[in-house]
Amino acid sequence: MADIAIIGGGAAGASLFGELLRHGTRVHWITGDRPAAGRGVAYAAGSDRHLLNVRAHAIGLFAGGEGEFLQFARRQVDGVGADDFLPRGLFGDFIEAQVRACADLALQQGRPVQIHPEDAVRIEPLCDGGYAVRLASGVLIKADAVVLALGALAPRPLKAVSREALQSGAYVLDPWRIARQEPAPRRVLVIGTGLTAVDTLLSAAERWPSAELVALSRHGRFPFEHTALPSAPYARQSALNSALLACGSPLAMLRRVHAAIEAAPQTDWRSLLDGMRPINARLWRRLNAKQRRQFLRHLRWLWEAARHRVAPASARALDAMLEHGRLQVHAARVLGVDGHGPLQVRVRHRATQQLDTLGADLVIQATGLDTAVAFTEHTLLSRLLRDGLATPDPLQLGVAAHPDGQLLNARGELQVGLYAIGALLRGNLWECSAMAEIRVAAQQLARRLAAADAQVPRGESAMAVRPALAP
Ligand SMILES: Cc1cc2nc3c(=O)[nH]c(=O)nc-3n(C[C@H](O)[C@H](O)[C@H](O)COP(=O)(O)OP(=O)(O)OC[C@H]3O[C@@H](n4cnc5c(N)ncnc54)[C@H](O)[C@@H]3O)c2cc1C
Repeated sequence: MADIAIIGGGAAGASLFGELLRHGTRVHWITGDRPAAGRGVAYAAGSDRHLLNVRAHAIGLFAGGEGEFLQFARRQVDGVGADDFLPRGLFGDFIEAQVRACADLALQQGRPVQIHPEDAVRIEPLCDGGYAVRLASGVLIKADAVVLALGALAPRPLKAVSREALQSGAYVLDPWRIARQEPAPRRVLVIGTGLTAVDTLLSAAERWPSAELVALSRHGRFPFEHTALPSAPYARQSALNSALLACGSPLAMLRRVHAAIEAAPQTDWRSLLDGMRPINARLWRRLNAKQRRQFLRHLRWLWEAARHRVAPASARALDAMLEHGRLQVHAARVLGVDGHGPLQVRVRHRATQQLDTLGADLVIQATGLDTAVAFTEHTLLSRLLRDGLATPDPLQLGVAAHPDGQLLNARGELQVGLYAIGALLRGNLWECSAMAEIRVAAQQLARRLAAADAQVPRGESAMAVRPALAP
């Protein structure tokens, strides 16, 4: 039987781990040094104001397991409705419970469950196929296939941020790890207006009740809001999707969607967008490099705001802050961040093109997913690039890969048995980092790996293969 190593202790790793255990595969799950395997960045227990952006009945860890979270949540909290947007931490509790149940079942059936709570630092190909995964402690794990489930990369500072600002302690790079601020900041500026920025603002409002809050991004646009109740599906979705697949450019796709929305005033536009979800990866794959670049430059902000929507309660809280003058939002480009703290943020306003300087005691960078692997200091990924086992996507949207998630190496060939799942595949699939896409990808990858395993003659395994390790 083959051994599979999964690297990454977030929801993608958890989903694949559970799927592979169900197939009876021998799995090593290398979860990293964060506590609570499975929660990853998104579902670590945080504030109860940090809500899922998916309704309770529609989110789950495993494909076909939608509804299981709702049942779990109802056992924990009274009065949960199927359409509620619940705290992300509660979904983290659910993931942990699901993982435990899968592991317990495997153990009862006499199958080993191997979870390694440390970082993987290097992957080395073995001469007879398969890989050796080296952990931070020096332990070596041999596996026939390895899956990178690393999520997004640690954020890098914007180019406009000066070294002194970075060293001042008044510039926060990771919005999920904000150190205690003494004295409390009087003015907090958040760079970004996406979902991460929304949660950052809600937390800042709670943590520093007297602070004035400022948010800015190039378009100054918060994500659109989910409807309080699900809207009816669009009746002509399949015709729309076929027409979109026949479009030759992102602009033509936008026009098509726009025309469909105009022609169906009785249908909420969000339904049309949600109905595109099964074809989004195919649409992306139809675009050539130039068109993808155009999309990223001109349409990405609108797509992100419309596709990754905010829960109604979070939108209400933002509205209240705006109404009471507690929060200001600017559509502006950041030109520089300087000072020792307080910091000065130099911007150019989008509408007037005027230059301006905004002062802030604390500046928090909340600019969303970073998947530019070519610039990363991530030990494992940078080593994979150096060793030529992986290569960056040309648009810096993760790693270059085959549609099945198998990586392309520096020679542009398939790196057999080395896969990725989740955000690292954005260049290939574009939409691949939300739970709906992740759980389907995990199911498909587990099937593929289990089927490959079934073709290996019994008794053969990478465990029997001697490593050819580079020095
Ligand atoms: C704040 C936030 C909120 C979100 N909310 C939603 C939502 O409501 N609904 C939804 O569908 N999606 C949401 N998402 C999308 C989210 O990305 C996915 O739902 C999912 O959590 C992604 O999981 P992941 O495992 O791919 O990545 P991550 O959660 O980032 O997990 C990757 C893990 O890999 C570990 N790791 C990295 N390097 C190594 C290494 N060398 N060795 C071992 N481990 C390593 C990291 O420490 C991390 O724990 C949200 C994302 C964020 C960031």
